[in-house]
Amino acid sequence: MSPEQELVSEVAAGIFLVRVPLPFALKIINCYVIREAGRWALVDCGYPTEEGVQAVRAGLRALGGSPRDLEAIFVTHHHPDHIGLAGLLQEESGAPVLLHALTRRIAETVMVTPDERWHRAYATMLRQHGVPEEEATWSVDEFINRRRIIRPLLEARAVQDGEVVELAGSTFRAVWTPGHADGHLCLLRESDGVLLSGDHLLPKITPNVSLFPEFRPDPLRDFLASLQKIAALPVTLGLPSHGRPFPQVHERIAALQRHHDARLARILEALNGQACTASEVSRRVFGELDSMDNRRFAVGEVLSHLEYLRAEGRVVRESSQGVYRYRAVAGGA
Ligand SMILES: [Zn+2]
Ligand SMILES: [Zn+2]
Repeated sequence: MSPEQELVSEVAAGIFLVRVPLPFALKIINCYVIREAGRWALVDCGYPTEEGVQAVRAGLRALGGSPRDLEAIFVTHHHPDHIGLAGLLQEESGAPVLLHALTRRIAETVMVTPDERWHRAYATMLRQHGVPEEEATWSVDEFINRRRIIRPLLEARAVQDGEVVELAGSTFRAVWTPGHADGHLCLLRESDGVLLSGDHLLPKITPNVSLFPEFRPDPLRDFLASLQKIAALPVTLGLPSHGRPFPQVHERIAALQRHHDARLARILEALNGQACTASEVSRRVFGELDSMDNRRFAVGEVLSHLEYLRAEGRVVRESSQGVYRYRAVAGGA
């Protein structure tokens, strides 16, 4: 096999997986090419590095096409490994980018705006939750730096929950699955139960569910409801954005539900009758993490769980001198 052929594989009828390298720990994002009777579409785009662009081009070339052939580009959510190359590929192909309206709004707010208003709000939020200054600054700079490499979209078409989406002649149903990202969309091909699951359902990794300013206020509740939404669908095969295609979608949903139940219990236990910041809770639950990235994910994850518990009335949030502390409600189940 040539290297180009190894890069792509047909994972369902007319759907081809292209492995695109990422410059961070996840290493690979799966982009999916949909090809039918000379028509082409792409689901998720990869991160804007030279290696990433080359991999997308090589994947299309191995299938006999090029970016110019794309008639549609679908983006599952706003994270840079998914939306990153959409602007560039759109410039080459003239194809519309299809995404949820929230994905577009968040991508613009976080990644393409020259205004740092949201970034300042994020830094403030992190400090309020007890995150050390160095860590808060680093986290916000991460977002600011991305603005240099992500190109804005020329034309975007908003896709709503439940909408029928035609991609290269193949018909999919869009399923809005907020949680990992507010605007996350999965695509179900109802004719054979193939689900392009984005980052909502991954076979090995638990998708990060974090709290951010100005976004949906209870992302863990969203995520768990989105799991149940998929559980009710006749899915036969999951095509995830990271990891291998997996048929055991319903088992995976049950495992993720159990994972979050256990984490909620662990966080309540970590509070241990005291009033703690989210940053303190994250250190108790995850220990001292070596990378800034992991610390940022850990605090975000703890916050989404604490806010879920707060909405349930199982913890309360107290504010003193600009710092929030959470405390378990005595006798709370
Ligand atoms: Zn993601
Ligand atoms: Zn991803």
